[in-house]
Amino acid sequence: ATDDARGGKRESIRSLTMCGHVGFESLPDQLVNRSIQQGFCFNILCVGETGIGKSTLINTLFNTNFEEHECSHFCPDVKLKAQTYELQESNVRLKLTIVNTVGFGDQVNKEESYQPIVDYINAQFEAYLQEELKIKRSLFNYHDSCIHVCLYFITPTGHSLKTLDLLTMKNLDSKVNIIPVIAKADTISKSELQTFKVKLMSELVSNGVQIYQFPADDETIAKISATMNEHLPFAVVGSMDEVKVGNKMVKARQYPWGIVQGKRVVLLWADGFLSPSLPTCKAEYQWLFFRIAVGNRELEASPGSVTSSRYFTNVKSLHFTSLQETYEAKRHEFHGERQRKEEEMKQMFVQRVKEKEAILKEAERELQAKFEHLKRIHQEERIKLEEKRRVLEEEIIAFSKKKAASDILQNQSFLASGIG
Ligand code: GDP
Repeated sequence: ATDDARGGKRESIRSLTMCGHVGFESLPDQLVNRSIQQGFCFNILCVGETGIGKSTLINTLFNTNFEEHECSHFCPDVKLKAQTYELQESNVRLKLTIVNTVGFGDQVNKEESYQPIVDYINAQFEAYLQEELKIKRSLFNYHDSCIHVCLYFITPTGHSLKTLDLLTMKNLDSKVNIIPVIAKADTISKSELQTFKVKLMSELVSNGVQIYQFPADDETIAKISATMNEHLPFAVVGSMDEVKVGNKMVKARQYPWGIVQGKRVVLLWADGFLSPSLPTCKAEYQWLFFRIAVGNRELEASPGSVTSSRYFTNVKSLHFTSLQETYEAKRHEFHGERQRKEEEMKQMFVQRVKEKEAILKEAERELQAKFEHLKRIHQEERIKLEEKRRVLEEEIIAFSKKKAASDILQNQSFLASGIG
């Protein structure tokens, strides 16, 4: 073919380039990318008396100032106020809805205080159901307002639960994941806190109140879940004040005797797990949703702070692992795992090549031995044949000699008979 013809041929070849990974190993990445693009939706219900520290804790958890107005203690009834915020940490977007119980615990007759909360939760389920029942559903971009978690704030009395708490939790536990928290835990000492926790748990159990249990059957988080369950109800400390500790500004509470600095504090993670207390219909859609866990960890004495044995070594605080951190950690873990697998594959490949090489070498050695053996036999055969040829040649020479002699004799006798 001429150069031109070859050039023409080359142009007609369509070359394809791979756009990234193919195969189902890229599924986790796809899931992460899709979730990041869509953003996450997380709805928290905060139930607790006015002034118990609900807004402060939420502000502390999300490291934001949600600018909640201080509520008065004179509301005639309980109202639910929902506010949605769009938060972003790095490239992860979170649509956070905080539902606050305004006026909870402020009425003289608190018998029906839980009813507006129950009604609110039911209304959100109803709204979801209505969307689902539509012929043209758009659940994909539907703003889910169902409550994912209820933080129930308990007054740090050190005594026991109030009737209002028991009644409310009892009426909510079948509808929502309740995580009880002991508010303003810096106002109670370590030993008091431990006794209080035990008391609260036994009261919850004896009154048949179901609180949220971190899933122990989910292998990936079984360990952390077990620790979390041990710490329930969580003792929390919130603060919006920035205090200088060492050369860093941190969120802490400053007292005349020292600084309470909480290690912040929520574990937010997304997964397909659905708590049985959420409507089962949602399970089919495997909605990604967050579970919030307010955990306990021993407070670290902050450098420069005056340590009081009553407060600072005792106060439990919230941990906050941000969504971004969790995502990064998961991604890191996934990539680590992939690298490990790649390394394993490489090792396996090298091992296989070595094994194959050994087998081939063995086969080559056997062939060589066979060849040597045949060569030897052939050599021996050749020597034998050479010998035979030599014997035969000698016989031929001897025969020729004999023949020549007999010819001479024959000639002589012929001549003699002629003369005679
Ligand atoms: P809310 O009405 O439940 O939202 O309560 P706020 O968040 O407005 O808090 C009421 C008051 O309690 C404020 O003066 C806060 O500074 C204070 N507070 C909030 N959290 C804590 C805490 O963890 N410990 C202490 N000692 N005080 C707190």
